[in-house]
Amino acid sequence: TNNEPGWNFDNSYTRLPQPFYTRQNPTPVRSPELIMFNESLAKSLGLNVQILQGEAGVEVFAGNQVPENSAPLAQAYAGHQFGHINMLGDGRAILLGEQITPKGERVDIQLKGSGRTPYSRGGDGRATLGPMLREYIISEAMHALGIPTTRSLAVVSTGELVQRETQLPGAILTRVAASHLRVGTFQYAAGKGGEDNGEDLKALADYTIDRHYPEIKKDEHRYLRFLQEVIKRQAQLISKWQLVGFIHGVMNTDNMTISGETIDYGPCAFMNEYDPKTVFSSIDTQGRYAYGNQPAIGGWNLARFAETLIPLLHDNEEEAVKLAQDSISEYPEQYRRNWFKGMRAKLGLIHEKPEDEALIENLLSMMEKHRADFTNTFRALTYDQKEPSSLFQSEEFTQWNQRWQESLSRQEESEEAVRQLMRSNNPVVIPRNHKVEEALEAAVNDGDYHVMEKLLKVLSSPYEPTPDMDEYCTLPAPSARPYRTFCGT
Ligand code: AMP
Ligand code: MG
Ligand code: MG
Repeated sequence: TNNEPGWNFDNSYTRLPQPFYTRQNPTPVRSPELIMFNESLAKSLGLNVQILQGEAGVEVFAGNQVPENSAPLAQAYAGHQFGHINMLGDGRAILLGEQITPKGERVDIQLKGSGRTPYSRGGDGRATLGPMLREYIISEAMHALGIPTTRSLAVVSTGELVQRETQLPGAILTRVAASHLRVGTFQYAAGKGGEDNGEDLKALADYTIDRHYPEIKKDEHRYLRFLQEVIKRQAQLISKWQLVGFIHGVMNTDNMTISGETIDYGPCAFMNEYDPKTVFSSIDTQGRYAYGNQPAIGGWNLARFAETLIPLLHDNEEEAVKLAQDSISEYPEQYRRNWFKGMRAKLGLIHEKPEDEALIENLLSMMEKHRADFTNTFRALTYDQKEPSSLFQSEEFTQWNQRWQESLSRQEESEEAVRQLMRSNNPVVIPRNHKVEEALEAAVNDGDYHVMEKLLKVLSSPYEPTPDMDEYCTLPAPSARPYRTFCGT
């Protein structure tokens, strides 16, 4: 039998210049218990599921024991938070190292909520159980939806109480990511430009290209290509969010990765009724990060990223600025193309036709007017299960439906091919806010994890309708209080 836990760490981040991190061990906790463990993810990382489900796992995921060859550290970064630049850094997260998987991939293994670091800025470095379980559920649901995201490997409860508005049970999430390099990491490096002649910025850019864009490493204009590739990935990512109604909620530049993965599941939530103005986050009073603003905010953040690269783009600053601006100006159209392609797929429109755009826009404006549920509308169109609703009973929908059917009938492909395209682009289930809350309440208040396990199972195959799915598709009872989310407590 194999008693090795399977950790296979390399720590390339420690080979970056000093200002990018501080070595820091996690702070041990009193009496940790393993609450969640993602077996299939663990296996794909080359970890020993049996061993890590026992004491050896709890100790590591709690930060009580540092695994062999790990070099724990907290990363430094900056970031625009709601438009204002701040110096930040991992205030409650510690990178254990980079696990090299059996396939040779490199992923960060990070503990979130594992104690104070030099970047804690008055915070306690801790996290609470509800929000860590919430991140586990939503990040795994995003992965199953086919959206690039950080993953959740484990949650432990710490046996300690954390002071928030009230005292809450503490927890630590083990997050797995392609990396934790952010737009904010580059802002941090660019802010240091004066002190070191830009050497640190260059080291960071080369490191990042090596790690995420090795195919452009030898390119003569590699920093420009780098900028363009990051723009491309974010245009893809944000279009995917829009296509399933995901609202990130706190698109600060420190919460935008360079790898193109979704990161930071704090105040995020899925939209019910289609309305571009939808905001769930309690602190986003201006609607800066509303559903309909996400694509534009993505562009704003990428412009901040482009600014950091200016010293690397050209010896002549004016030329460099122009290159950066030209690249950024491509983003809206790239985003639009990705989104449009995805919307066509949601409606089974295989070949692009001139009428597609109006068809899509008209449907969305009808959905907004009739306050139609985003997910369920596309689900009904896909499975031809149109329950009586304001939208489906309206005269304008009948007319639209006729145009749509005509458009579909002009395609050569079989009806089955069209259905297949729609099925693989229209999820039947999403993590509905009220279902997530129900699962968290049972877990946190009653220690009952069955509700959450059932939810996780249903969310793991969102494109396949199953008989036990129905209760996850119904809308919340209309309640007096609108749904509100809170930044990572
Ligand atoms: P976020 O809004 O989740 O992106 O977090 C913004 C910054 O606050 C990051 O630098 C976090 O590391 C830091 N932070 C959040 N919660 C805590 C905490 N409890 N203790 C210390 N730092 C924290
Ligand atoms: Mg964050
Ligand atoms: Mg957060």
